[in-house]
Amino acid sequence: MKYLEEFQNPELARRLLDDIRATVTRPWALMEVCGGQTHTIIRHGIDQLLPEGIELIHGPGCPVCVTPLEVIDKALEIAARPEVIFCSFGDMLRVPGSDRDLFRVRGEGGDVRVVYSPLDALRIAQENPQREVVFFGIGFETTAPPNAMTVHQARKLGIGNFSMLVSHVRVPPAISAIMESPHCRVQGFLAAGHVCSVMGTEEYPELAERYRVPIVVTGFEPLDILEGVRRTVRQLERGEHTVENAYPRAVREEGNAAARAMLEDVFEVTDRAWRGIGVIPASGWRLSERYREQDAEHRFDVAAITTREPAACRSGEVLQGLLKPHECEAFGTLCTPRTPLGATMVSSEGACAAYYLYRRLGVPAVSLEASPVG
Ligand code: SF4
Repeated sequence: MKYLEEFQNPELARRLLDDIRATVTRPWALMEVCGGQTHTIIRHGIDQLLPEGIELIHGPGCPVCVTPLEVIDKALEIAARPEVIFCSFGDMLRVPGSDRDLFRVRGEGGDVRVVYSPLDALRIAQENPQREVVFFGIGFETTAPPNAMTVHQARKLGIGNFSMLVSHVRVPPAISAIMESPHCRVQGFLAAGHVCSVMGTEEYPELAERYRVPIVVTGFEPLDILEGVRRTVRQLERGEHTVENAYPRAVREEGNAAARAMLEDVFEVTDRAWRGIGVIPASGWRLSERYREQDAEHRFDVAAITTREPAACRSGEVLQGLLKPHECEAFGTLCTPRTPLGATMVSSEGACAAYYLYRRLGVPAVSLEASPVG
């Protein structure tokens, strides 16, 4: 399959690994931002193929995982109302709220439906004018444009019974938060290629300069990851910190102009809480004042709901790259995909789920003490 199989070629992977081995002279800690990249890395054992001392730290780029508990609780509260049809992508249904999940709400009689596009939810609203239809709009810069377009369409078509519960997050402020953490060990970033295909790369040079870290825009196939690592390590070894685009088949510097215009029309930047991490300034989007009527939080008066994260789940540390999933005491015992304590064990992009799925049950942590490489 074009653009997939050619980026999984074992011979090319071997050559990239040889190149990385020939470049590396000391340990480096790189963060892959996106959960999709984490799954590629763990599934193909890329972290285990890299020279000893090159550590891949898993970043907070799983949209389901970082959606804060209080937003889940707001979704549960809205979904339980008899007048509501609550529409969501499937992976949100098992994410635990304070005392239940959306599956439980459905079992208790709530009308919770899995959709594959926000436009499906809009169609349901058209077909059910006597009901309130709410779409759960979460995610990074990748899912935000279709959600923005759907809200725009609802308004344009005068579909008054449609609203959206929004919890969108943005990657660049998260990179700042990671770099400013006193525990930060990250020395270079593999930036998320799909996010950059929407937003472009214009926000990254300032970050690379401020924190003196290389940022390499990276794709999602094994060769993409290896090329991202190769370029990041090469910069680190040379003492450089620039932005490189290693995913040119999808990413242009200016991004997608139409998508960005739609985002600007419908959303405004806001401070946003990240699950397990806390509030990151200017790290999210909410519906702008113009679209207040389509804001489910406003329509259903759930803005005041607040919650506290369960102490047993250490997903905040996992999402900041401070802990590997199997180092959590609950991993694989109290917490499994069937009995998840946190969203990182539920989501198809969650790091805990990746470690469980691919049986990474006891990989020793890589020491950053000087160690032989090669
Ligand atoms: S293994 Fe479970 S409890 Fe531990 S951090 Fe991951 S989701 Fe939370």
